[in-house]
Amino acid sequence: MLDITQLSENLAGPVGSTAWMDDSACSGHGDLFFAPFAERPEARVRRETAAQRICNSCVSLIECRDYARQNRELGFWGGESESERAAAGFAPTTPIVGRKRVAEQRARDAMKSAS
Ligand code: SF4
Repeated sequence: MLDITQLSENLAGPVGSTAWMDDSACSGHGDLFFAPFAERPEARVRRETAAQRICNSCVSLIECRDYARQNRELGFWGGESESERAAAGFAPTTPIVGRKRVAEQRARDAMKSAS
């Protein structure tokens, strides 16, 4: 269950440093890390498996996972899917409607603030 403290933190903007993004291994592979509209379960498994392979080679994995958990991000971050993050107690706070657009905008904002 979402509490108002989490929601207000989420609306206030990203929390935590994004310096680790300078060393990210996923640059240029955004399509693997965010689900397209109406993605089928089998396609999701294939996409997230490919994303996981990239994360496994990334030196920023721990910082990235912590950031995504802290900010209740959408998409695949730090070797962790949205459902895995939710199972760990860090469910996204964004409404289902418009998630892809929000996720893409957040990723752009995070990359911009890291550069
Ligand atoms: S851990 Fe994965 S999602 Fe995070 S920066 Fe590295 S490659 Fe990208």
